[in-house]
Amino acid sequence: MSEVVVVGGGLAGGGAAIRLARAGLAVHLLEREREPVDKICGEFLSIEAQRALDRLGADLDQLGASRISTLRLAWGSRRIEASLPFVARGLGRKRLDAALLDLAERTGAKIDRGVAVRAVEPGRLVTTRGDLAPTVTFAASGKHDVRGISRDVAGCDTDYVGFKVHLRLPVRARADLDGKVDVILFEDGYAGLQLIEDGIANLCLLITKRRLSAIGGTWRAVFEMLLREPYAAMLADAEEIFARPLTIAGVPYGYLHRDSTDDRVFRLGDQAAVIPSFCGEGMAIALRSAALAASVVVEGGDAAAYHAMLRRDLRRSMAIATTLQRCGRTALPRHLLLGLLRIHPDAIGHLIRATRVAAC
Ligand SMILES: Cc1cc2nc3c(=O)[nH]c(=O)nc-3n(C[C@H](O)[C@H](O)[C@H](O)COP(=O)(O)OP(=O)(O)OC[C@H]3O[C@@H](n4cnc5c(N)ncnc54)[C@H](O)[C@@H]3O)c2cc1C
Repeated sequence: MSEVVVVGGGLAGGGAAIRLARAGLAVHLLEREREPVDKICGEFLSIEAQRALDRLGADLDQLGASRISTLRLAWGSRRIEASLPFVARGLGRKRLDAALLDLAERTGAKIDRGVAVRAVEPGRLVTTRGDLAPTVTFAASGKHDVRGISRDVAGCDTDYVGFKVHLRLPVRARADLDGKVDVILFEDGYAGLQLIEDGIANLCLLITKRRLSAIGGTWRAVFEMLLREPYAAMLADAEEIFARPLTIAGVPYGYLHRDSTDDRVFRLGDQAAVIPSFCGEGMAIALRSAALAASVVVEGGDAAAYHAMLRRDLRRSMAIATTLQRCGRTALPRHLLLGLLRIHPDAIGHLIRATRVAAC
């Protein structure tokens, strides 16, 4: 029987493996990490991501996901509050991704943890455990490019550095955050804060390289800068759970895969499209791409057809999200946009809806 090899066991890879195995195909997933690990992510699950996870059989209640129904958007001493157009969930990626890989394994996919793919060549995968010759390859390595199929990120916004920490908040701060996601804007960046499972708070933050270097280049300097924001001051008494923050640089915001050079390589998740993080829709895209790629393969279609369909599905929300990100970076458009949102907080709901992808 022909075999699909999935490179990467994040949401895109795990989701695809479940769908392919359910359809009776032979699936072999390679994940470079031996054990589940924390990943840089705001851990905000939109309604589309929730629906996709539900279809895969992941039970968010059982996994302990928090519920979030309100967005608080702060800049300086101002803050506006708006209801989300859906109830979002908060769940750590370490727990979520592990649950999906377990499900994939139970569905019949072969999962090899601790195996990295070093290169994708025509008809051949070079891995740390020898070569493979799959009929079809799903490239789902997320933020990490694999030799031979690197993304062409020309024209994307690669100027941000991301940080993520899990925090234990004092009781009052935790109660205040319950049911909400805080987005705190600061000069050349923003932070997102929300509760995930077990009352833990996830703080995920993006700052431009220029600003990071201007304030000293360290996480400590970034955190202290954040504490000076009035609506982040309550984090001063938070306990950091990680030994050190997770960091990432050069995420290619606005990337949307175009040309297929190899009809047997399907790009999924962040390998296919990278929507600005503030939308909280990257996981939904990963899961949607997984569902679409699996259905195309099951029906005997090729990668070019799949990429064209995915591009069509994502183009609008990607364009709106990248335009908003660009507005946020320039003083006058940012000022106008925040002014508008102050007068019409309901517009936040429209913007959130406009940056959603269709559920799969
Ligand atoms: C700062 C930030 C905040 C974000 N916040 C949110 C949010 O709140 N909500 C949301 O929906 N989205 C958010 N996103 C986006 C979201 O995290 C991604 O879109 C999503 O994780 C993509 O899933 P994926 O499966 O494509 O990749 P990943 O989750 O990155 O998974 C890729 C997997 O491949 C493995 N891998 C990598 N290279 C290899 C290799 N060579 N061989 C084998 N395995 C390999 C990795 O170990 C990993 O497990 C955020 C992104 C960033 C950067």
